[in-house]
Amino acid sequence: MKNQHTIPITIAGEILDSPLIIAGPCSAESEEQVMTCARELTKSGKVKVYRAGIWKPRTRPGSYEGIGNEGLKWLKQVKQETGLKTATEVATEKHVYEALKYGVDVMWIGARTTGNPFSMHEISEALKGVDVTVLIKNPVNPDVELWYGAYERIHKAGIQHIGLIHRGFTSYEKLRYKNQPLWQLSIEMKRRLPHLPMICDPSHIAGTREYLGEIAQKALDLDYNGLMIEVHPTPDSALSDAKQQITPAQLDQLLSNLIYRNPDSTDVNFMHVLEELRAKVDGFDDSLIELLGQRMAISQEIGKYKKKNNITILQQNRWEEILTLAEQKASKFGLSKEFIDIVFNAIHIESINKQNAIMNNPS
Ligand code: PEP
Ligand code: MN
Repeated sequence: MKNQHTIPITIAGEILDSPLIIAGPCSAESEEQVMTCARELTKSGKVKVYRAGIWKPRTRPGSYEGIGNEGLKWLKQVKQETGLKTATEVATEKHVYEALKYGVDVMWIGARTTGNPFSMHEISEALKGVDVTVLIKNPVNPDVELWYGAYERIHKAGIQHIGLIHRGFTSYEKLRYKNQPLWQLSIEMKRRLPHLPMICDPSHIAGTREYLGEIAQKALDLDYNGLMIEVHPTPDSALSDAKQQITPAQLDQLLSNLIYRNPDSTDVNFMHVLEELRAKVDGFDDSLIELLGQRMAISQEIGKYKKKNNITILQQNRWEEILTLAEQKASKFGLSKEFIDIVFNAIHIESINKQNAIMNNPS
């Protein structure tokens, strides 16, 4: 199988290798801000694509809603002067037409748009027959089908060069990051679309600049194909997302601090040891499935017994007892409470479903 690490992305006819670095301000604010930022970003040679939001989807009205069409002229100037490819967010057909007029190379679909099939339909129609690179951010809600559906619409429009951007998911709870990464969702998208590059947007996951490095490292360790990071010449005075932006020099430092690991190895000894360890894991996984099967068979027996004696499926005390015992035991093996709760809840639901089927079976 082709390794994901080598998935290149074509932008404006040029094939760019992983990891692709996209950087630039959250929003284009002024000609000076856009140009200064772009000039500084070219110094390291690491950044290949310059991002800037022209139309900004804001949660509350009255926040900075973007400079609009005027900013597209600055992006064109960036391309002419620095040679960087340009990228902006499109949310309507009008945005697509305007961005095309100014030769924007990459259009990204924002998280609020991906989750809206009407908008996705409208954008896809506008993109028919257009040769541009489209990157699709995950929707704000943790729904892989919506993300996949957005991909299908862009693909059906005939777009050849498509990538995905993982920017995290909204959470009601206040957690470490502004948006929960839920890495397993992007891993599922990678599984479904292994030929597409997956780019991480640490800025919108983190919400504050202190976490950018750890998120970027995690993405590289998961074999992502690129990073999109918000950069501003004077981050604290940015008109949007000020807390999460860093200076071009800080970006350079961040990228230098990252560890770029190999996705695979041809070293025979390494492969030998890895295969032995993987065989052990496969053995344990087999045993886990066998044990789960045996456990469910007993649950079914209990279900029959409860039915015969006209007893409800759920006895709350018993369930709490199972969970407490499991958590206590798990901690001795260094397993977290969160992990064991997820596993045991899943087992419990399957067990209830099995007993439910027995209860509702007329025989
Ligand atoms: C952005 O990239 O500036 C942006 C608005 O992102 P998202 O759609 O991920 O919120
Ligand atoms: Mn932003």
